[in-house]
Amino acid sequence: MSMFKWDQDGDGIVTITMDDPNQPVNTMNDTFQGELPELVEKLQGAVESGEAKGVVITSAKKTFFAGGDIKSMIKSTPEDAEAITKQINGMKAGLRAIETLGVPVVAAINGAALGGGLEIALATHHRIASDAKGLKVGLPEVTLGLLPGGGGVTRVVRMLGIQDALMKVLTTGRQFRAEDALKTGLIDEVAPADQLIDAAKKWIKENPEASQPWDQKGFKIPGGTPTNPQLAQFLPSFPANVTKQIKGAPMPAPKAILKAAVEGAQLKNIEEALAVETRYFVELVTGTTSKNMMQAFFFDLQYCNGGGSRPKDVEKKQFKKLGMVGAGMMGAAIAYVAAKAGMEVVLKDIKMEAAEKGKSYSEGLEAKALKRGKTTEEKSKALLDRIKPSVDYSDLSDCDIVIEAVFENTELKHKVWAEIEAAVPEDCVLGSNTSTLPITELATGVKRPKDFIGIHFFSPVDKMPLVEIIKGEETSDETLAAALDFTGQIRKTPIVVNDSRGFYTSRVIGFFLNEAMRMLAEGIDPAVIEAAGRQAGYPAPPLQLQDELNLKLARKIGSETRAAQEAAGLTVDDGGVTEIVDKMLDVYDRPGKLEGKGFYEYNEEGRRTGLWRGLWDELGAGKVKVADGESTVAGSGLDSAAAGAAQKAAADPSGVAAGSNVPADAPAFIDLVERPLFAEALETQKCIDEGVLTSDADANIGSIMGIGFPAWTGGTRQYIKNYDRPAAATLPEGKVADRDGGDYPTRGVAGFVARAEELAAKYGERFTPLESLKK
Ligand code: NAD
Repeated sequence: MSMFKWDQDGDGIVTITMDDPNQPVNTMNDTFQGELPELVEKLQGAVESGEAKGVVITSAKKTFFAGGDIKSMIKSTPEDAEAITKQINGMKAGLRAIETLGVPVVAAINGAALGGGLEIALATHHRIASDAKGLKVGLPEVTLGLLPGGGGVTRVVRMLGIQDALMKVLTTGRQFRAEDALKTGLIDEVAPADQLIDAAKKWIKENPEASQPWDQKGFKIPGGTPTNPQLAQFLPSFPANVTKQIKGAPMPAPKAILKAAVEGAQLKNIEEALAVETRYFVELVTGTTSKNMMQAFFFDLQYCNGGGSRPKDVEKKQFKKLGMVGAGMMGAAIAYVAAKAGMEVVLKDIKMEAAEKGKSYSEGLEAKALKRGKTTEEKSKALLDRIKPSVDYSDLSDCDIVIEAVFENTELKHKVWAEIEAAVPEDCVLGSNTSTLPITELATGVKRPKDFIGIHFFSPVDKMPLVEIIKGEETSDETLAAALDFTGQIRKTPIVVNDSRGFYTSRVIGFFLNEAMRMLAEGIDPAVIEAAGRQAGYPAPPLQLQDELNLKLARKIGSETRAAQEAAGLTVDDGGVTEIVDKMLDVYDRPGKLEGKGFYEYNEEGRRTGLWRGLWDELGAGKVKVADGESTVAGSGLDSAAAGAAQKAAADPSGVAAGSNVPADAPAFIDLVERPLFAEALETQKCIDEGVLTSDADANIGSIMGIGFPAWTGGTRQYIKNYDRPAAATLPEGKVADRDGGDYPTRGVAGFVARAEELAAKYGERFTPLESLKK
């Protein structure tokens, strides 16, 4: 065996050390699968002969075990279902044999045990994690559109009970620190790293009769099975909770987890429950959504975080001191993340009061962190001491990077940059946090345009993981590399884009918001628009998001964009959006959440209390009926609870939409679901054609992590590449889908193009697929 090192001590305890000879991490790849039966056989032999008295499973890698082999999983198609089922069942039989060896088996978890790694540990009698820094355990499969199919669902349900298993572990995909895993019951003990194996052996000696609870007589699942009246009472709320968690998005994994957990719990025999789990896993792994999510959250994320777009031959830079100019909402928060990462920060504003107020943002966050036990007095004080409020440019004299976040105005920024440049060292990186102003144009205000770059953060900076790096025409490779090194140092995920109005993210998100406002202008019920946004899987529905971003800003960006388009000789069809925005601002004074009135009403605490009645009464929304809301939703394979929510929304408050009593040319609900997705994806493709984007990974990660493009799609570009026409989108008269043996494309780029053409015919030229896609 090359994967499993065998080491037996004088007490008859066998230590199995997992160490894949061909990879830096252990995964459930062919080597593992191929050698597991041999390992099991050898163990069984050693137990039978009385040689082996116990088994410790550990790893020689930095991590314990990384999990499933994503490189092979992402390739699996429905045709592979049978082969995958066989493979998984083989592995499960191996793990089952290990937990029924007849001697105590302990997992000595020396590093991260996620997914398959934890599943191996769950098939032992006792789990001890080391206190190694950053060690994580959990079952994050759901975040890749999968379920823990190596026994994870079945064993966690039997260990923690259905409710906790689902809500704490399986549907959240949470990655637990060792202490939290201990509290939740996923592991049994935490030991100092250098005493891990000793602790495992000690437990074996003290527990010679160990066996799994489910192999003991009279075992009952904690909290009972679904037939238990007490649990049955709560069961109906599970699907609703799961739906709430995924906000109605068409994500099959959480639902499959729910089914596997509940059905498995009803089966007394654990082997049968494991088989049920396999069935649901195979369905997910061979489906579309898991591929999208594996692509985005594994490969694309790795590309971005691993410096995929970083110029290769530039030496890595380590930053010591940030000059943060502008201590407003963004500047204050950027200062915080930099100080948290150990950098010194000069936080400069015009008045000392403003600079100090900027620092108080960090003080607030640290006070909270202290209260929650997430930091210590000492660390917190040191962090805050690193932030120096200032009004003096000369304080920037020893900064190795400056980020400017003053008001969004070119003239002001030019003026500020002249002063910054005069104060900082010659080799200081010059970054602007502008959200829309072209970097090349801003760079005309500095003497060193090659050192100038866009470093675009997202609000709230301390929570949002993404940073958009924008290269101006003259930005050098060294500056790009340095900006990426900085992003890495503050532990953010970067995407790299070329200069354009709104860059990539701000430009594309506008198409989501605009499409919703177009619908409103068309007379569609706002509650239906929001329901469609939720069903598309957006984390926040469009009108709610527009309220958060504020209509004043929308008007400003809209008029700038329009002016630019007109200057370029383009005719602008805004679909009535400008009129809506103008009326909302000038007639009804409803800019958004900040003012407590927008598309929604807000109470005194700033909480949404419902859509503003005036949208129907004053703006005439709701007069257009939406075709077949009810059956469309049900037919799309989406969740019935989500369908219920959509119907309720559709019925509220004007009673339009769902129902069959609508004109033949009425927009279909599924069109409303897909329109914003297509609008954003098409604009992304334009960014690719124009060279604003240079990799699919940047497109996908930027869209999901920066602007809330639905995670199940795998991002804007993956959505096009792996498009899968929903059943609810009925084909044009007389056409037969390729998947049913016809020749009408429903999948991939061709399927996307066909559907875009339909939307263009029905809703306007903006959906006309680009030539690059047709090719
Ligand atoms: P803000 O109004 O909260 O803060 C701007 C700060 O700059 C104010 O404190 C102001 O006093 C200060 N300032 C103005 N002139 C200055 C000068 N000469 N020297 C030093 N400080 C000066 O604005 P904000 O929301 O933090 O946005 C700042 C920048 O970040 C803008 O370019 C904006 O487009 C961009 N941005 C904003 C967001 C967002 O969500 N708000 C997101 C990404 C990027």
